[in-house]
Amino acid sequence: MYADENSSDELEAIYAERRDVDLEMAQMHAEADAWHAVRDRGYCNHGSALGYLNPPAFEAQKLLKPGQLICNAGCGTIFADDADWYAQLDDPMANPVPLPVRAPAPAGV
Ligand SMILES: [Zn+2]
Repeated sequence: MYADENSSDELEAIYAERRDVDLEMAQMHAEADAWHAVRDRGYCNHGSALGYLNPPAFEAQKLLKPGQLICNAGCGTIFADDADWYAQLDDPMANPVPLPVRAPAPAGV
């Protein structure tokens, strides 16, 4: 049995595509791991934020001026606007904010 030119080209394309997807997945996982590791190191990764709302729905929103956002992931940092939040969300270690110290989990849990 001989490999036919077309199907081997096709296979090569499929393999190349799989390799690209694997690389992309690996890179995404590495980025996600690094992002989560920020919290393990005791810094906030600003994973969620509340926007200004009038009247405020949450206590934290009372601190905001129109356009601002407040980190809802643990640190309470106030971001000037969406772009400010996105920038710090993308690279939380550029301007690391320590998470407030939490009580350790009860022993045995
Ligand atoms: Zn935060």
